[in-house]
Amino acid sequence: MAPRFLPYARHAVDQEDLAAVCAVLSSDWLTTGPVVDQFEEAVGNFVGAREAVALSSGTAALHSAMAALGIGLGDEVIVPPMTFAATANCVVFQGGTPVFADVDPETLLLDPGQVRQRITSRTKAVIAVDYAGQPCDYDALREICARHSLALVADACHALGATYKGRKVGTLADMTVFSFHPAKHITTGEGGMVVTGDPELARRIRLFRNHGIAADHKQRALSGTWYYEMTALGYNYRLSDLQCALGMSQLRKLPRWLARRREIAQKYASRLHNSARVRPLKKRPENEHAYHLYVIRLLRPDLGISREEVFKRLRQRGIGANVHYIPVHLHPFYRETFGTRRGLCPVAEKAYDQIISLPLFPAMTDDEVEYVLASLEAALGAWRAKER
Ligand SMILES: *Cc1c(COP(=O)(O)O)cnc(C)c1O
Repeated sequence: MAPRFLPYARHAVDQEDLAAVCAVLSSDWLTTGPVVDQFEEAVGNFVGAREAVALSSGTAALHSAMAALGIGLGDEVIVPPMTFAATANCVVFQGGTPVFADVDPETLLLDPGQVRQRITSRTKAVIAVDYAGQPCDYDALREICARHSLALVADACHALGATYKGRKVGTLADMTVFSFHPAKHITTGEGGMVVTGDPELARRIRLFRNHGIAADHKQRALSGTWYYEMTALGYNYRLSDLQCALGMSQLRKLPRWLARRREIAQKYASRLHNSARVRPLKKRPENEHAYHLYVIRLLRPDLGISREEVFKRLRQRGIGANVHYIPVHLHPFYRETFGTRRGLCPVAEKAYDQIISLPLFPAMTDDEVEYVLASLEAALGAWRAKER
């Protein structure tokens, strides 16, 4: 009964998306035209942010956020280890030092108590990661950041559409970063965005994404001038009109897709919640989760079945289980450059040995969800019998 291979995440592109991209392909602007502005406004409206700046990737968006804060040599930025490497890399791009603060054992979200312990006179900012799609404890993080005059950046690449105490992700930090990589909630192929309530930060990011040149190609063409000045060092981090056309079309489907993600997560949760062998990550009641990932932990790998074995058995059944993530401080680059090592963040390190991400994407059918659950059960052996 094996269906198609089920990856942990998968984009969906339909005829509407194709038509939207093709329309831009035969227009005057392939890049930096009117659709970039439309997409920025649409995402800004969706998340309730005043300013939105489109960038060529989530990584470019994180880098731009660090640049806008003026992060430089010797500056420290506190980040969680349970994330994609880009969350820490963006600090290094600017010559700063990422300082790893451990996560909460039940949610794997940045632990505010650990953040407090990592603050030094060099700390300039905190990057919170809404791991798996669940918002961090922003009230606690904001309080810490306010007390120590630190900027708070949300890496919400997993959490487009999530809420915390009824407030939208996108309004909870000084800047919030989204990714439009095909594995994420909506895609532009590659792409990202920074949203903020601060027009000055938005201005700096716009400059940074366009070589440090204030007037872009479109503005110059429209005003009929050739003159421009480069006032700061920047990059080419622009997102194109082509990509934004895809993004606009995808965004229209986001509410439906979020609802389906929550429905699938509910199906997983209702079957796994009283298992003795695996436990889904805890969802906090104040959060509306965006479920980019559905992460379970093997409770007692010591009882005989290792994560590797479960992973292998799922793969054999055509299930693209995955592991998110190798704690960033354990990567060779960080060990060699910053001397980080095992023991620095024990909660994340322990979780790393136990976690598996199950397939979760809106186009999954109920039968496919059932197939994943049945396969997990088989992979874990007779765990149900043993519970009784
Ligand atoms: C995807 C992701 C990024 C990077 O986004 P890209 O668009 O792939 O550059 C950064 N942080 C987290 C937590 C992510 O999941």
